[in-house]
Amino acid sequence: MKQWPYHFQSSMSNVLVIVAALMAIFLVIYGLYRILRNPFHYPYFVRSFDVSRKRNVDIEDYIDKYLCSEFGWNCIVEHHNTIINWKKRTESYIQTCILKKRRTRQLYEIIDDNFAFRFKTVRDQTRYRQQNYVKTSYKVSVLDSEIAVDWDWLVQRHRKLERIGFEATLKEYHSRDQRRQMTKELRQQIMKRDHYTCQNCGKYMPDGVGLQIDHIIPISKGGKTVASNLQVLCSKCNGRKGNRRTT
Ligand SMILES: [Zn+2]
Repeated sequence: MKQWPYHFQSSMSNVLVIVAALMAIFLVIYGLYRILRNPFHYPYFVRSFDVSRKRNVDIEDYIDKYLCSEFGWNCIVEHHNTIINWKKRTESYIQTCILKKRRTRQLYEIIDDNFAFRFKTVRDQTRYRQQNYVKTSYKVSVLDSEIAVDWDWLVQRHRKLERIGFEATLKEYHSRDQRRQMTKELRQQIMKRDHYTCQNCGKYMPDGVGLQIDHIIPISKGGKTVASNLQVLCSKCNGRKGNRRTT
């Protein structure tokens, strides 16, 4: 049987001791890092809007639409409460910590109320991958724009939208070109709402041809292109209204 020479055995055990010591030091450092690092995560509100194939995207317009929907506003209010509760819970948790002072400082370091609500617009982009002479396409989401606001900003915005009956975004409502706000979708929506019936003489025109969308308060007098200020008129009645207005 072959015996290892003595000096080799002793250098082997020396190496083992050094490795064990290094591991112990690593574990202590890692343990300290785990204990001392900031354990808190601020609960941001994140919402992205898909703006694929849309041009001239204004992110505030998308936020307005989100705020106008009951669902969107509820999500925001709910999240506002989540943040308040998270703060309360974390603060009472800190009271039970040994590193109370450090934890308090760490908590206030990450509280980010001014930018708590984050909105993004993203668009799908088609990219191509070449593999073995075969070109395949795949989609990726690309960030288009991004904005972070606080709770007060959203409350004020919501209040302004409430004042105009949640009928349009602020930009649409205050646009100087109200005629441009008339979209195909809005036109269809008003036709459907008014049952394809002239709101003056009651003529029913189910194909919609000959029906016109009328501003109840004319744009020239400050009327807006919003559902409550629109009605369906037949061309005859609309013509008559036009005459009356000019005389
Ligand atoms: Zn009519």
